[in-house]
Amino acid sequence: MKKQITVLACTLLALITADPPPARAAVPAPAPPPPKLIVAIAVDQFSAGIFDQYRSHFTGGLRRMIDAGAVFPNGYQSHAATETCPGHSTLLTGKHPSHTGIIANEWPGPDGKTTYCLADPGMSVPGRPTEPRGPANLRASTLGEWLKAQNPASRVIAVSGKDRAAINMSGHGPDAVFWWDDELGFNTYLPPGGSASERLEPVKAINEAITRQWSRKLPVWKPFDASCSRLNSEGIYGGTWHVNHHVPPDWQLADPGQPFRRDKAFKRWVRASPIVDELTLQVAASLLSRYQLGHSGAPDLLAISLSATDYIGHRYGNEGPEMCDQMAHLDRGLDAFFKKLDATKVPYVVVLSADHGGIDAAERVQLKGFPAVRMKTDVAGVVNQNLRSSDLQLSIDAFQYVSYGLYLVRPQTLAGDQRLKITTAAISFLNQQPWVAQAFSKTEILQVRVRPGVPPDEMSLEERFAQSVDAERSPDILIAFKPYTTMDPVDPNGFYIAEHGSPWNYDRRVPIVFWRPGLAGYEQYLPIETVDIAPTLAALVGVPHPAVDGRCIDLDGGAGDTCVN
Ligand SMILES: [Zn+2]
Repeated sequence: MKKQITVLACTLLALITADPPPARAAVPAPAPPPPKLIVAIAVDQFSAGIFDQYRSHFTGGLRRMIDAGAVFPNGYQSHAATETCPGHSTLLTGKHPSHTGIIANEWPGPDGKTTYCLADPGMSVPGRPTEPRGPANLRASTLGEWLKAQNPASRVIAVSGKDRAAINMSGHGPDAVFWWDDELGFNTYLPPGGSASERLEPVKAINEAITRQWSRKLPVWKPFDASCSRLNSEGIYGGTWHVNHHVPPDWQLADPGQPFRRDKAFKRWVRASPIVDELTLQVAASLLSRYQLGHSGAPDLLAISLSATDYIGHRYGNEGPEMCDQMAHLDRGLDAFFKKLDATKVPYVVVLSADHGGIDAAERVQLKGFPAVRMKTDVAGVVNQNLRSSDLQLSIDAFQYVSYGLYLVRPQTLAGDQRLKITTAAISFLNQQPWVAQAFSKTEILQVRVRPGVPPDEMSLEERFAQSVDAERSPDILIAFKPYTTMDPVDPNGFYIAEHGSPWNYDRRVPIVFWRPGLAGYEQYLPIETVDIAPTLAALVGVPHPAVDGRCIDLDGGAGDTCVN
């Protein structure tokens, strides 16, 4: 025993005193080449709740991002009005809606009529003479604009299932923008004086490709993946809303040369199914070669917004077999798309997030033990009734719905003190109602200063609304309805049973995941904001940017710092 110890001690001594073996030169992991292509993906209505619920099941594109990316499961769209237009406006501007000017999906125009967030009379949209679309209302510049300011060779391209997603993400002066326009196939907007044929040629090519494809085989939403069968939504709506997921019975390719139809069944079938995402990713892949993305000599940007998750969430709720199946499709679709990106050999970086979260249909939330309610009260009706019976002597219904939680006192020409009196009376009445958490006037919210550095999950209701409000565009009254309230009735057309738009965290909390080859990724549960995405990507490719509301996030889990160039 003693001998053994002596031998061991001698061996140890020899190890300590001997010349160290020639050290293998420490080989630092080669820094990945700077990305030549930024791929920014928004998954519409992809709440952090849904991400958490399904993340262990992902095996495709989302698995790749989760396993090796910088993963932030607690991202926040920090503002109150969690609708699609404002949410997309924060993603690549680095600014809250209070600074992008996109405060809701709609707001009151000077005549009191609501105006669409991205109505732009300066642009024309083929086939939509009364619906001009463009970025005029977006008051902030985007990552794509910063890239082009540094080097005009940078290409900026966007594609989505929705115009408001593609236009917000590509900002002003992009090279091309495409969105799904139902009976018109994909569409775009045409700037004045530009070459229309240059813009229309790719639209034509995209739609011809779909036409050829559909004339051979119509896409269908196949029966659910077996793993989704435990989720059963049958019965909750008496079967009325659990309608045909497959090809509508009346659908047939009557004219193989013109597959896009003008009826609701067609619109619903394509949108509220994984088909719209498949089309969007197919177009995105075709744009890689069409625009030679990653080969311009400067960083290029491809912005993609996938709308199916939102349409499926609205139509079927987000906790049934339909959403389960959509998650599987999303994961597979991204996997196939990333493989196409890999094949280009272009060094790229991907960020994936969402424009807002969402909540399941009130009836099913209620079954799971939450005080969820589908609103039966006509909000504008009861407020107007109260105002008429007050001593304000109103001869009109002054209180008018504008957008989710936003209400106008009309007419807009109303004198200041009268307007103030009506607003005060309406808010006082609203704050006594059991379905209201708190109602605010625009005037008081405009005075709120968000505490510097306050984490987004710790913000007060007032602070959330402060990031959603604009002096000119916001209407007079902003309402936070009680949590778990679904404001809308079930839509008889079958488009809509569940929603989003509230200032509550189930609508604000979204995943934010960055991935690039060679990144030493990590997971961080502390909250970040969607306004952090643009400055983070700008630092990664070394492009300067104007003052923004967000901050650069260091994506390197090791000693490196992607915020320092
Ligand atoms: Zn949305």
